[in-house]
Amino acid sequence: MYPFAFTKASDTHAALDAGRRGGRYIAGGTTLVDLMRETVERPETLVDISGLPLDEITVTERGGLRIGALVTMSEAAADRKVRTLYPVISESLELSASAQLRNMATIGGNIMQRTRCTYFRDVTADCNKREPGSGCAAVHGHNRSHAILGTSDACVATHPSDVAVAFAALEATVNLLGPDGERRIPFAGFLLRPGRAPHHEQAVRKGELITSVEIPAHPRPLKSGYLKVRDRQSYEFALTSAAIALHVRGGVIREARVAAGGVGTVPWKLPAVERHLVGERPSPALWAAAAEQAADGARPLQYNRFKIELLKRTVERQLRIVGGTK
Ligand code: SF4
Repeated sequence: MYPFAFTKASDTHAALDAGRRGGRYIAGGTTLVDLMRETVERPETLVDISGLPLDEITVTERGGLRIGALVTMSEAAADRKVRTLYPVISESLELSASAQLRNMATIGGNIMQRTRCTYFRDVTADCNKREPGSGCAAVHGHNRSHAILGTSDACVATHPSDVAVAFAALEATVNLLGPDGERRIPFAGFLLRPGRAPHHEQAVRKGELITSVEIPAHPRPLKSGYLKVRDRQSYEFALTSAAIALHVRGGVIREARVAAGGVGTVPWKLPAVERHLVGERPSPALWAAAAEQAADGARPLQYNRFKIELLKRTVERQLRIVGGTK
């Protein structure tokens, strides 16, 4: 470990002031402390924001949900409002990390977490995300767990968060507070694809603080859920995953929200699958036909071609589970 300054923000104003001067916000610290130990990240000043009043879960005026940035993963997963309104969120959280980590890690930190690409964490390897311009060891390396969607020649790493996949499916908004006031970013624009600058990962400006994630109200009844496929049943990242929410009325699908994880450089919304479902009657044939389009545009690497078929099957199975037809 190397020397760094540490300050605890007494209120939001003090946090923003420290952030404006270049301090890095830290709450649960479950990602950042690891990266500092490995010298992948070397912030000079940490600003502890864990005491700020950003830890509530509230139902919005329109019937959506606002989850404070400092709500822990385990608190959000257990919350009755979350479980009732959006089971896809609680399921995605329960399938993430370990119980110990879920007790520490916050929702804001979760969506800011960095990739688990092993080359990113190996400071002897070429990695454009860690060291811009150095190259990407994964493109021709061990890339079984890497992305097949949204990649570039500069980076093929997946985004590791599960709950971010649920947020993408539900078309959440990220609320921020910064030196210039409040800002709202649709989740689809919050996490950035790598392009030629994979080190730019989120649309957060210097000194901005995530205050909450807001889920819009969706028509009711809404059935939703999260399926995660991984090499082992606990404490493992997704090979593929599917977050699905369906609003069915009068025997017809009126609204479909579908996103995939483990396959994209960001949580991957599947609009072609959604379009295929809306206006149709649930049936096993419909699930299979819609899931056929889940991997549209995929660009597999040497060792992860299997993800194309696995993704289709993951989406089909989760459509069957949420849609309620066998
Ligand atoms: Fe780095 Fe991205 Fe390449 Fe991994 S995939 S080595 S994170 S540039």
